[in-house]
Amino acid sequence: MALSGLAIFKLLPKTNCGDCGVPTCMAFAMKLAQQKAELSECPHAADEAKAALGAASEPPIRLVKIGVGANALEIGNETVMFRHEKTFVHQTGITIQLRSSEDARQLNQKIAEIESYIVERVGEELSADLFFITHDSSKTTDFTQLVQQVKSNSTKGVILDCPDEAALKAALELVKDDRPAIFLREAVSETQIEMAKSVNASLILSGISFDNLVHQAEKAKAGGVNDLILNMPGEDIGTLVQNNTILRRSALKKNIKPVGYPLCSVLKADDKFDLVAKASTALCKYDAIVVLPDYDRALLYTLFTLRQNIYTDPQKPIQVEPKLYAIGEPTPTSPVFVTTNFSLTYFIVSGEIENSGISAYLMVCDVEGQSVLTAWAAGKFVGETIAKFAKQINLEQQVQTRKIIIPGLVSQISGDLEENLPGWEVIVGCQEASDIPSFVKNVVLA
Ligand code: SF4
Repeated sequence: MALSGLAIFKLLPKTNCGDCGVPTCMAFAMKLAQQKAELSECPHAADEAKAALGAASEPPIRLVKIGVGANALEIGNETVMFRHEKTFVHQTGITIQLRSSEDARQLNQKIAEIESYIVERVGEELSADLFFITHDSSKTTDFTQLVQQVKSNSTKGVILDCPDEAALKAALELVKDDRPAIFLREAVSETQIEMAKSVNASLILSGISFDNLVHQAEKAKAGGVNDLILNMPGEDIGTLVQNNTILRRSALKKNIKPVGYPLCSVLKADDKFDLVAKASTALCKYDAIVVLPDYDRALLYTLFTLRQNIYTDPQKPIQVEPKLYAIGEPTPTSPVFVTTNFSLTYFIVSGEIENSGISAYLMVCDVEGQSVLTAWAAGKFVGETIAKFAKQINLEQQVQTRKIIIPGLVSQISGDLEENLPGWEVIVGCQEASDIPSFVKNVVLA
C-alpha cells in the first residue's frame, strides 16, 4: 500500500541538506508519496528506510533493459501520464522487424542499411534501437542463422519472436550474454519462464485483456522473471490508445503492480499513412517499444524527430555552449549574426547561414537555452545583455567588422543594443531563419 508523505518523512534523515534537489526532507517525502521522485535520489537514506519504504520507493513502472554495452536500450521508470507534468524519462525504442522467410542477401543489406542510418539533429545522433526477429519460415536453421547474422553485424539488442520452442532455445544460446527479450504471442508457459530466466532475458507478454495480462505478469513474476514488458494489441489506433492508457493509468494512478511495466506494440498497417499514424500515436501514447514491420527511412526520420521532441525534458531545454561560432571560414571582416543558445535555434540558424554560401560569425548568447522570443520576453535577450555578452567574449578583439545582425523577431531591441554597444551598427535581420539566404543575398552582399 502507498505510504503518506508524513509516513515517508519519518523514515528520512531530516537534515534538510538539499542533496536530493529539493530544499527539505518534507518536500522530498511529498514528492516520493506522489511518485514524482525515487528514494535513490536521497544519497543519505538509511538501509532501514529503503527496506521500510519497499514498494513505495519502487518506480511505478519498472526499468527494463534490452541489449548490452553502449547500444543497450533502457525503458520504463515513467512517472507521469503527460510530459508537461514533469518529463518522460526513457525514450521509446524504435524497433525494426526482420523475418526468417526473407532472402538472406536482402536481409544482409537491410541490416547494413539500418546500422548505417544515423540522423544528426540538434546535436544528437538518432538511430533505430532494436531488431525484432520473427521466425515465419519452415526451417529452424533459417531463424538461428538470422539471429547469428544480426549478432555478427550489429550491436543493437534483439527481441526474439519465435513460436517454435526448439528454434527459440537454439537462438537464445547464441544471444545468451546479450540480454535479449522474448516476444510471446500466446499466454506465457512454465517452459518459457525457465528459458527467459536461464539467459536473463525479458519477457514481452501479449494479452487480449487487462485481466489476462495481470494473470500472466503475476505468473511470470512468481516464476522468477522480473523484467516484463506488456503488449495488449489494438487493431486500430483508437483501441491502441485506449489499451495503453488503461495500462499506464492503472500502473501510475492505481498502483496496480502487475501492470507496472513498460508497454510494447507490434504494428501492422494497410498503407504507409496508416503506419505513420499508428507509429506516431504509439510513440506518444505510452509504448516503450514500437515495432515497425519494415525498414523505411522516411518513416524512421519522422519518428526520430517526433521522439526527440516528446522525450526532451520541457524543464531543461537542450542548449549549446554560448560563444562565438565560426560558420565556414570567416575572416575578421565577415558579418556577425547573433542568436540564443537554444539548441534548435542554433542548429537552424547556423544551417541557414551555411546554406547562404557565405562564411560568417554567429554569436550565441547565454539565455539558459531559451528561444529568441521567449528569451526576449524574459528580459534575457535584450540590448544590455547582448552587449554584456559581446564584451565578455571580447567580440571586438575577435572581429574587425562593426556590424551586427540581430533576429528580425526582436527588431525592437536594435536601438537599445546600439546604445549599449557604442561604435556598432545594428542591422535587423529576417524574421524566419529560412529567409537567411535571401537576406544575405539582398542585404549583406548587396
Ligand atoms: S537528500 Fe535526503 S536528507 Fe537531504 S534533504 Fe533530501 S531527503 Fe533530506
